[in-house]
Amino acid sequence: MRKIVSPLSFSRVAALLLACGLGASAKGVEGIATQPFGTTADGVPVQLYTMTNAHGMKASVTNYGAIVVELTAPDRTGHFDDVVLGFSKLDTYLHGSPYFGAIVGRFGNRIANGRFTLDGKTYTLATNDHPGNTPCALHGGVKGFDKRVWKAEPVTRKNDKGVKLSLRSPDGEEGYPGNLDVTVTYWLTANNELKIDYSATTDKATPVNITHHGYFNLKGEGKGDILDHEVTLHASRFTPVDKGLIPTGKLQPVKGTPFDFTKPHTIGERVNTNDVQLLNGGGYDHNWVLDRKKTDGKKLTLAAEVQEPTTGRRMEVWTNEIGVQFYSGNFLDGHFTGKGGAPYIKRSGLCLETQHFPDSPNQKAFPTTILKPGQTYQSTTIYRFSAR
Ligand code: BGC
Repeated sequence: MRKIVSPLSFSRVAALLLACGLGASAKGVEGIATQPFGTTADGVPVQLYTMTNAHGMKASVTNYGAIVVELTAPDRTGHFDDVVLGFSKLDTYLHGSPYFGAIVGRFGNRIANGRFTLDGKTYTLATNDHPGNTPCALHGGVKGFDKRVWKAEPVTRKNDKGVKLSLRSPDGEEGYPGNLDVTVTYWLTANNELKIDYSATTDKATPVNITHHGYFNLKGEGKGDILDHEVTLHASRFTPVDKGLIPTGKLQPVKGTPFDFTKPHTIGERVNTNDVQLLNGGGYDHNWVLDRKKTDGKKLTLAAEVQEPTTGRRMEVWTNEIGVQFYSGNFLDGHFTGKGGAPYIKRSGLCLETQHFPDSPNQKAFPTTILKPGQTYQSTTIYRFSAR
């Protein structure tokens, strides 16, 4: 039976939406909605915050792991698809995820042998990854920021909707020194951007390198591989790695190598060539040194561009960081089934993780990642979506 909705019920609904901070717009309901997203193994309830902008773009973030669970973007015809890999249920994230959509820290990427020395003291971290049979500490440890429950609060600024997430990483957590207070704010802007502001302070010197681990597929999650995506990286050097994916310490020019993305190239074009660096990474899994000028200071510069030919979707990555890890999803192997029910096959998503260089705490020649008491760690990254 068809339900007749009286004008009165419409105004009631509108009033209710306004009370929830939601406002009607031509292309959907603009605002922030909060809903339960399940309970952790320790019985802690977590939420899902869904931001919608005036164009109808949607970003859903849970305070478990500060994970972006869903991010929709329009194609050239205006059709929205979810362009990030992930799961629809908290439970699936709890049972193991290769950092889909999460915030990783306190040190994103690898630290060789899970060890570093700071101010004469050697710190030992768990070795939770072993590429090429070489142990390393990866993405913050056994229980990094991707597995913590964050405090969360919806925030609004002009036309931007966001969620502000914070946590304290206690002194000694995962072997790192110092109480680290971290805030990460995700903004869905009126310009179809996912903007991430990171900040942190500490009471003891400690390495800090926090990043977002979104896996993007601009065709839509679960819609095959990303080999046709055309990538541009504004970087004329990269940091080559050994078999353990640990930087050798060199900054190597990309010119004349399959690592030259200064002009657009599809990922598939060279990813399987017999290049020692590609063999070490099992594909692209390297840090590029962004071409930033000294005068750029903490200014955001364009780090990467990705264009998907069939849908026309385009993503730009802007950051004030000095490096970006371009990971072509080489370790995905169909084991995980995504939100839409499709298996996440090899190279079905790509990551562009803005960062300082991997293993910096052990690499004297790399810019420091040590945060000291009295200093504030600040990092910003924008993933901007459009279509053409
Ligand atoms: C790393 C990969 C790693 C993956 C974990 C990426 O950031 O570069 O080597 O396997 O994270 O899913």
